Amino acid sequence: MSNQINFEYSLSFAQKMDEQDPLKSFRSKFFFPKFDGKEAIYFCGNSLGLQPKTTQSYIQKELDNWAEMAVDGHFHGEDAWYHIRKKSKPALAEIVGAHEHEVVAMNNLTSNLHFLMVSFYQPTAKRFKIITEAGAFPSDMYMLETQVKFHGLNPDEVIVELAPREGEHTLRTEDILLAIKEQGEELALVMMAGLQYYTGQVFDMKAIAQVAKEVGAYVGFDLAHAAGNAPLALHDWGVDFATWCSYKYMNSGPGNVSGIFVHEKHAEKPDMIRFAGWWGHDEGERFKMEKGFKPMFGADGWQLANSNVLALAAHQASLDIFQEAGIKNLRQKSETLTSYLEFLIEEISGDTGVIEIITPKNVKERGCQLSLLIHKGGKAVFDEFYKNGIVGDWRNPNVIRIAPTPLYNSFEDVYRFAQILEKSIKKFV
Ligand SMILES: *Cc1c(COP(=O)(O)O)cnc(C)c1O
Repeated sequence: MSNQINFEYSLSFAQKMDEQDPLKSFRSKFFFPKFDGKEAIYFCGNSLGLQPKTTQSYIQKELDNWAEMAVDGHFHGEDAWYHIRKKSKPALAEIVGAHEHEVVAMNNLTSNLHFLMVSFYQPTAKRFKIITEAGAFPSDMYMLETQVKFHGLNPDEVIVELAPREGEHTLRTEDILLAIKEQGEELALVMMAGLQYYTGQVFDMKAIAQVAKEVGAYVGFDLAHAAGNAPLALHDWGVDFATWCSYKYMNSGPGNVSGIFVHEKHAEKPDMIRFAGWWGHDEGERFKMEKGFKPMFGADGWQLANSNVLALAAHQASLDIFQEAGIKNLRQKSETLTSYLEFLIEEISGDTGVIEIITPKNVKERGCQLSLLIHKGGKAVFDEFYKNGIVGDWRNPNVIRIAPTPLYNSFEDVYRFAQILEKSIKKFV
């Protein structure tokens, strides 16, 4: 779609794009932070999504239920807390491309990574290696390092980090697949991001899952930056497990609940090693309070504790908006919106040598975020953006991440960003 549009660097063009945008009304469903009394140009949904205006009423409803029913709220009413986890399943399944029994919302992202590793990383003398991407998000690095130590192994001998080729910023699929084949029978697990937080690259999860399976390894993805952003078909791709957070593109509020995916092929494996809790136990027998863990079918069998109802209420407020907008419509707009941003950055920074976009040019290999490598001026370029009301983020050593989201950003936002970029960049040429 985006290829067919002749983009223009003008306000009238951006406004025309907004008029034609079928999702334009969704912007008004969110609160925007203010800068000097003016709405910020918010391009930081990759870090913390904006608050839906409905969130408060969703939480209030559960506060009312608690006030009115107290402990009876667990079993009474249409949204009894005992079953509340089920409510988010249809939307989550659609967002990650799964069956409803393959997903559940619970815990936080890093906690879920650990719990899933307990099941999916069971090293043996022969098969013990883990492939991941170099420069992974720190929590993921610490998680892998300490999981490996937990098994009494040496992280340096176990973790194989894949780095881009000399002079390149992103990984080539062929190199990832080759590395998996090379590790072959020693490879226990591929555990990497689905969308790399620093470069914005979307990995070819389908091909990775396929080749990992061929060598007999499990494959898991951290989808923190992919969920609610990039197209996902976890079930069809045969991914073993995945987890994500909901406060980035999924707008559920700071630190809010994570989600997990466990493929159907592991749905009924009561002997699979796991760290269990009562909420993963057969729900029909949960209150018998008896010995002997019997996991629920599917992803629910990995739950530990009873649902955090207030957190899930905020989560649901956002998921309902996703359902209303439609994940395919969102992606369609996202491709065009980010391509427009890319066009304007190239128009403006052109041969100044200040900015290099390191996110792949191929729209299939990226979500909405573009990562701008700053060659001149360093963090001062970012500070200049910030002073002018642009909220993006700076990531060490030298990248500015700009993420226009299709739910609440407009083409005019992108145009206004370009104007500020044009003004700022002159200081660093
Ligand atoms: C945001 C992010 C996290 C954050 O983890 P929390 O447990 O939610 O604090 C972890 N991993 C990746 C890849 C992320 O992008």
